Amino acid sequence: MIITYTHRDGLYVNMTNRCPNHCDFCVRSYGDTLYGNLWLEREPSTEEILADIKKRDLSRFSELVFCGYGEPTERLSDMLEICSQIRRLSDIRIRINTNGQSELINGKDSTPRWNGLFDLVSISLNAADADTYDHVCHSRYGKDAYPAILEFAKNVKPYVGHVVLSVVDTTILPEDIEKCRAIAEEIGVELRVREFI
Ligand code: SF4
Repeated sequence: MIITYTHRDGLYVNMTNRCPNHCDFCVRSYGDTLYGNLWLEREPSTEEILADIKKRDLSRFSELVFCGYGEPTERLSDMLEICSQIRRLSDIRIRINTNGQSELINGKDSTPRWNGLFDLVSISLNAADADTYDHVCHSRYGKDAYPAILEFAKNVKPYVGHVVLSVVDTTILPEDIEKCRAIAEEIGVELRVREFI
C-alpha cells in the first residue's frame, strides 16, 4: 500500500481514495500512475501516515504535498493533525492539492482550523462557471460545488500562506481561462494554468 510517494523534489501523501467528484480527466481512470498503484486497500491511520513520512529524510524534499488518489479534505481532521505534527518537527513547506469542496464536506466553519498549517492551498477550479464544472467534474454536490469552491478559496485565505486556483490548459477553452483569471482576481488569489500531465 503506497502511503507516500515522491515526485520531482516533493514528498506526496496519499491518505484516501474518497472524492466527491468523478472528473472526466481524473488520472484514476487511467490505471496505475508513474508512482505505482495508489488505490489503498484501506485508509491508513494518522499514526501509519506519520510513521511513513518520518521514515523519510524531510530535509531532502522541498515540500510535503497532500495529493493522492482522492480528495485529502475527506479526512480533514486527520490531515490537519498530521500537518500540525509535521510543523513541530520540520520547517518543510506544506501544500495541499484540493478540489476545494472542503466546506461542503466538513462544514463552513472549518477553515479557521487550517490556521498556519499550509504554505500553499492549490484549488482545482477546472471551469469558469457552475454548469461547466458540473458537466466536467460531476460532483456529488451538483451545481452547489462551484460556488462553494470559490467561497472556500476566500474563506481559507486568511489562514494559509498562499491560495492558488488552477486550471489545466487542455481541459478548458482559452476564453474560459480568461474568465477564471478574472474570478481569481476578484477574490484576490492567483490563477495558475497547468499543463496536462
Ligand atoms: S477531484 Fe481530483 S481525485 Fe477527485 S475525481 Fe477529480 S481529479 Fe480525481
